[in-house]
Parts: sequence; structure tokens; C-alpha cells
Amino acid sequence: MLENTLVAVFVLIYGLIIGSFLNVCIYRIPIGKSVAKGRSYCPHCDSLIPWYLNIPLFSYLCLRGRCGNCQAPISPIYPLVEALNGILYLLAWYTYGLSVEGLFAAILLSLLVVVAFIDMKHKIIPNSLVIMIFVLGVLHAVYQSVYLGVDWYLGIIGLVAASVPLLLIMLIYPQGMGGGDVKLMAAAGVFLGPKILLALFIGALCGGFFSFFLLACRKGTMKSEIPFGPFLSFGIFTAVIFGEALLSLYLSTFF
Ligand SMILES: [Zn+2]
Repeated sequence: MLENTLVAVFVLIYGLIIGSFLNVCIYRIPIGKSVAKGRSYCPHCDSLIPWYLNIPLFSYLCLRGRCGNCQAPISPIYPLVEALNGILYLLAWYTYGLSVEGLFAAILLSLLVVVAFIDMKHKIIPNSLVIMIFVLGVLHAVYQSVYLGVDWYLGIIGLVAASVPLLLIMLIYPQGMGGGDVKLMAAAGVFLGPKILLALFIGALCGGFFSFFLLACRKGTMKSEIPFGPFLSFGIFTAVIFGEALLSLYLSTFF
């Protein structure tokens, strides 16, 4: 019990620290800046942020959401991303334990956080992130086939299962979807195998409801471009964390 609590605290803190780095990625990748070089600085007054004010979540709360130097408000997105990544790591640990599979899940979820927040802000899914998810997917498929005896071709099924239907939709109705969404589902499909269809189903369902909600509130038009990446990312997250549970629930209900 105590041991589990200690592991949970460790996993959460680790998730918050990585979440802090994800903020750097979300801010710098779309503007083509290196994520490895350069310290964090306030975008308002350009002052470097000292290490003791760079502690995830706590610094934001201590400074009440303002820069320690110029008092400019800091976007609540930063602590939100940190907290979200902490919670995702806890979920990955809860589902897979301290295992290689859990590590794979945690890395994928972090990449999805970056994809979702960049897509929300810039309406693009950078190719560099798609390539990272693809490489992670290949490593995951190799790991599963070598160590867990999972059929190697499931990754290839996953590669095309969701991406090809999305590609067809994109060719018929180009306004509906971007190439980035198709590439994201191809790359994540290698990781997930056939479970990518569950991800597509959940993502399309949530995206559909959200669009309908916007239309109903007359805040959007049929033409307003809603980024699909965050919904697909949520679908992939659901398949990674709850995929097995949902599939067995489905099978026990209908068969
Ligand atoms: Zn400042």
C-alpha cells in the first residue's frame, strides 16, 4: 500500500517534469526552434526563468500565474499541460504497471499531448511528431512480436486500417480533414494495431459531437475549421489506456 503510494507520487512527479518539457516542445516546434538548446524565458519580458521558479505546477501556483520579473500573466495552458501529463503517466502506470509496455504508453501519450495542443493552436500536425510516433510504433510492434508473441503483421493492419478510410474521405471531401490527421492515424496505427479502429471511432464520435454542439450554439458554421487532431489524440489515448477493457466489455455484451 505504502509502496504503491510512493510509486504513484514518483510517477506523478516524473509526469509533471516531462510535462514541463512538453510545454517547451508545444511552444518551440511550430516556430522551428530547437527544444534542446536555450533556457526557458518569459515571452513577455524575455527574462530567463531561474531554476527555482521553473518547478512544474508549484511555481505557477506560487506566482499566482504571473511572471516573477514583469508580472505579465502566464497562460494557464502551461500548468494544464503539466498536470495533464502527470495524470496520463498515472493512468499508464495504473494500466500497465512499471513495465516496458507502460513506458511505451507514457511516451506515446506525451507525444499526443504535444500533437493535440499544437493542432489546437496552429491547426497543423508537424511531420517531425508524426515521424516520432511512427518510429515509436515500429519499436513497439517489434517489442510485442519478439517478447510477447504478438503477430508482427498487426502493426501493418493498424498502419492502413484507419488511415486509408480517412485518406479516401480527404480525397472526396478535402475541406473535412487534413493530411496531418491521416498521417497521425497511420503512425499511431503501427503502435496500436487493429485497436486504431477503436481510436478512430472514439475520435470521430467526439469530434462529431463537438462540431454539432458548435453548430447548435451557432458559434460555428459548416465551414469553420475545427482541428481534428485533439479528438483523434483523445481516441488514441482511449484505445491505449482503456482498449482492452472496452473490447472485453464489448465482447462479453454481444457474444
Ligand atoms: Zn516576464
